[in-house]
Amino acid sequence: MEEICEFFEKCPIARYFKATGWTMFASRYCRDGYSAECARQKLRQANQPVPDHLLPWDHKLVGS
Ligand code: SF4
Repeated sequence: MEEICEFFEKCPIARYFKATGWTMFASRYCRDGYSAECARQKLRQANQPVPDHLLPWDHKLVGS
């Protein structure tokens, strides 16, 4: 069974993508175990604040 990130439905990153783009993004970064590598997840697990625009790879920010 396919795994999906527990935060997928409300992840604020989705607002930076059109629907099609978000679907493609999510299929690459939010499913099948990748979420364990997500920078957002790592901060959350460390009880650190998670900026809305933090992307899951190498901590770069959208528009910054
Ligand atoms: S970007 Fe990270 S926190 Fe957001 S849904 Fe994908 S894996 Fe989860």
